[in-house]
Amino acid sequence: MNIKDIINKKSLGKSLTKEEINFFINGYCNETIPNYQASALLMAIKINGMNNKEIFYLTQAMLNSGEIIDLSDVGFCVDKHSTGGVSDSTTIAIIPICASVGVKMLKISGAGLGFTGGTADKLGAIPGFSCLVDIETAKNLVNENGGCIITSSANIAPADKKLYALRDITSTVESIPLIASSIMSKKLASGATAIVLDVKYGNGAFMKTKKDALILAKTMVDIGKSAGKQMDYCISDMNQPLGYNIGCKLEMFEAVQVLKGLKGPLYNSVIELSSKCISLGLNINQQKAKKLATEAISSGLAFEKFKQIANAQGAKIKNFDKLDIKPKLIVKATCNGVLNSVNCAMLGTIVGLMGGSRQTLDSEIDYNAGIKTFHKVGDIFNKGDVLFEIYAKTKEIAERYKEQIISCYTIQNV
Ligand code: URA
Repeated sequence: MNIKDIINKKSLGKSLTKEEINFFINGYCNETIPNYQASALLMAIKINGMNNKEIFYLTQAMLNSGEIIDLSDVGFCVDKHSTGGVSDSTTIAIIPICASVGVKMLKISGAGLGFTGGTADKLGAIPGFSCLVDIETAKNLVNENGGCIITSSANIAPADKKLYALRDITSTVESIPLIASSIMSKKLASGATAIVLDVKYGNGAFMKTKKDALILAKTMVDIGKSAGKQMDYCISDMNQPLGYNIGCKLEMFEAVQVLKGLKGPLYNSVIELSSKCISLGLNINQQKAKKLATEAISSGLAFEKFKQIANAQGAKIKNFDKLDIKPKLIVKATCNGVLNSVNCAMLGTIVGLMGGSRQTLDSEIDYNAGIKTFHKVGDIFNKGDVLFEIYAKTKEIAERYKEQIISCYTIQNV
């Protein structure tokens, strides 16, 4: 077997065997296959696609390149994964909701990727909170509190890590077989019994159309089921930020407000995803699961559970629902108007540039950096109404990005 023949086969649109896919992944990991040949194969996969069997073999090969977490001493555990969004703090609310009704969740969360924010970074806005928890401690925390959120120290799917970096610089990220196998290799390694996927589409997501998001979701569900996992998914619109706040501390605060009962698009998404997790976790229908999720919020149990989980992970504050930062700049509407569209990815990127995400591997995050929005697409506003509050380290930084932030909105005068 040699890599030249495998590249040629895929470039002709033929299907690869399990052995050929294993040969590629093993060879790329042990560096007998160089980056230029791996790039050629990735591009052939991006152009010609893969069938479900090939995608499953690719997922398995990447999964088996590293550690697989054993959660058998935790029992039935549910995982939730979002393909990445802007103002998406659902995980922070979903875990305590599920834990408070008896559904265990051990969430391995990454840092932000591109314009999207990472849950671990958002939780970092809570003084003392640490996601740097080893797997054995995490399992104990899940058994004690029902939920735990960590950044993994385990060597999970190293083949994906290496390939993802190569895809990033060879324009081969946006390929359904490559995205599905990348995400699912990591999800299968994290040991959960059931997985709920939140697949995003729109200008703030990898998938630009609802149709592609559905294909990606179904592809990942097939992989999970073939691996013996219970699976569910939802498709969600990322043509505008999910909630109203973007940035670590602002998003933390918004998730806490949802746990305290604040209604809106973020609340709706939290309830939908929690219901799916609870339905799988307790083996009940979604209607009953939804009732449990909404009652967990209205009774205050979910917020109490959030505080319990946060304290167990080192949180050193008492007042989780007090926002202790002030905007450096307030932008008001200069005319009456209606919000026609939002450049969601650009808003996420700007918050990152203002310090809200790491711009280099070792840069520090400004947890306070962010943008608070006040309108959703279709909303009407009057001259003088607040459009944005800009949170940054200094007024100069806020001023520097003001015009770019305004340009993310397409407004029609009325
Ligand atoms: N997230 C991943 O982990 N992998 C992809 O390929 C895309 C999004």
